[in-house]
Amino acid sequence: MYSGVRNDECLICEGSLLKGLDLYHLLVDDCICFRCRKNLKPKLKFSKFNNYRLLSFYSYNDEIARLLIRYKDLLDKPLAPLFLKEYMWLINYFFKGYKVILIPSSKTLEKRRGFNHLQAILKGCKLEVIDCLEKTDSIQRFSHHRSKVYFTFKESVDNLDKVIIFDDVITSGSSMLEALRLLAPISKKIVLISIITNRTQ
Ligand SMILES: [Zn+2]
Repeated sequence: MYSGVRNDECLICEGSLLKGLDLYHLLVDDCICFRCRKNLKPKLKFSKFNNYRLLSFYSYNDEIARLLIRYKDLLDKPLAPLFLKEYMWLINYFFKGYKVILIPSSKTLEKRRGFNHLQAILKGCKLEVIDCLEKTDSIQRFSHHRSKVYFTFKESVDNLDKVIIFDDVITSGSSMLEALRLLAPISKKIVLISIITNRTQ
């Protein structure tokens, strides 16, 4: 696998970060070059999901989807910072006092990856990140359950008054709904963050 990334090289094209340099790069400490960033079509957006505020950073497109697959399925771990690093200040600033709850992957997937892909993306986040949910692999046992996914608390956590539920991509929304089922009864304020969204509420 990938090693020895030079920090003046773009994580995607390995070109110089100075390529296409403009005011953006003088202000933003980015880990990919301006051209690659533009190709990802970043689009910071507040929308609603199930009446909860949903913050997302990219609308679904082939390029960002391809990178997410390269990162979490082909295990190209050094790509982790490209998704949110430049927005971390915003999360730290606007959601001070919130705790970040990670949407769990299946245990099989987590084991195969050898790292928590959401946690790695959140490096540099000053909020407390809590990996307290777990996904049950055998859905069949819960056939009475209406959702396609089933989460439980793997540890009890105190004071979940203000939480961010965090996932990489929101498509059917079933993971978010399942996390909300557990957190809505115990949290006073809930915000959802998904890096990529293709929902249009
Ligand atoms: Zn590049």
